[in-house]
Amino acid sequence: MVPKIECPDCEQLTFSWWNKQMLWPARAISCPNCGARISLDAKRHRLVSVAIFGAVIILGLFSPQIWDNYGRSVGILVSIAGWTLIGILIGLYVHRYVPLVIRSKSSVSRETLT
Ligand SMILES: [Zn+2]
Repeated sequence: MVPKIECPDCEQLTFSWWNKQMLWPARAISCPNCGARISLDAKRHRLVSVAIFGAVIILGLFSPQIWDNYGRSVGILVSIAGWTLIGILIGLYVHRYVPLVIRSKSSVSRETLT
């Protein structure tokens, strides 16, 4: 069920969709096949931070108005719906446009030996 993602180093389908969603440019995970340290492209990922920042501002500006005009239950529903939508959009963006990058190759240690 979980779509597999190719490791940029060994080109094996070793990562799940969730592995990638849980990644952050500052955080790297090891490929179970080749042991290379894999992370996200920081430049492409910057847009995610901008999107979250923008969403916080927009929801922060409009939530009190919705809260006042439509009541508490609608305000909570709109917040949940808003954050769910933002989460889905960020997930799709990361999956589609942010490539996995190699932080450190497992072969580096082999090269330094020679
Ligand atoms: Zn690999």
